[in-house]
Amino acid sequence: MYEGPVQDLIEELGRLPGIGPKSAQRLAFHLLTVEMADAERLARTIIAVKEKVRFCQRCFNVSEHEECRICRDARRDTTLLCVVEEPRDLMAMERTGEFRGRYHVLGGAISPIDGVGPDDLRIKELLTRLGNEEIREVIVATNPNIEGEATASYLARMLKVLEVEVSRIASGLPVGGDLEYADEVTLGRAFSGRRAL
Ligand SMILES: [Zn+2]
Repeated sequence: MYEGPVQDLIEELGRLPGIGPKSAQRLAFHLLTVEMADAERLARTIIAVKEKVRFCQRCFNVSEHEECRICRDARRDTTLLCVVEEPRDLMAMERTGEFRGRYHVLGGAISPIDGVGPDDLRIKELLTRLGNEEIREVIVATNPNIEGEATASYLARMLKVLEVEVSRIASGLPVGGDLEYADEVTLGRAFSGRRAL
């Protein structure tokens, strides 16, 4: 145990995902050595993100406004909807430059082991959008792992009764991987090679 603020910082950093006790200690001691201005900028950035950033009311992407930059963009094709797990997957898809429609961010994937069921995801909100918006095709771009595939199958069953085309991005992505780690070319190819579900 270190004294006071140093120990507090180690504990706070250790709460972050992917940061174990050793990394937390290393980061804390690194922060002890940085310039005051750098430390203040980091602290201010964390507070700003909590104060200013919220979720888009339409697609649940992160946004500084009621609707995100993509939903507000009149040039996007509003008849195409790409369903992703997290905002970071949306960003990965945007980087490919292949998709000109809008998104729907589920907020995760079905995972019985982690206690995440369909009701924990924004599937109700997706169905509401399909009722209210003129959507022609839903492209399911959940991750190519067990949870992502389970979510895609569930969505395919739910959407079958609706008059909407449902497709799934093609395989060719590393199985078990995350969309955000796929390179743009591979992800772009998986996207253009999508198949009906
Ligand atoms: Zn949005």
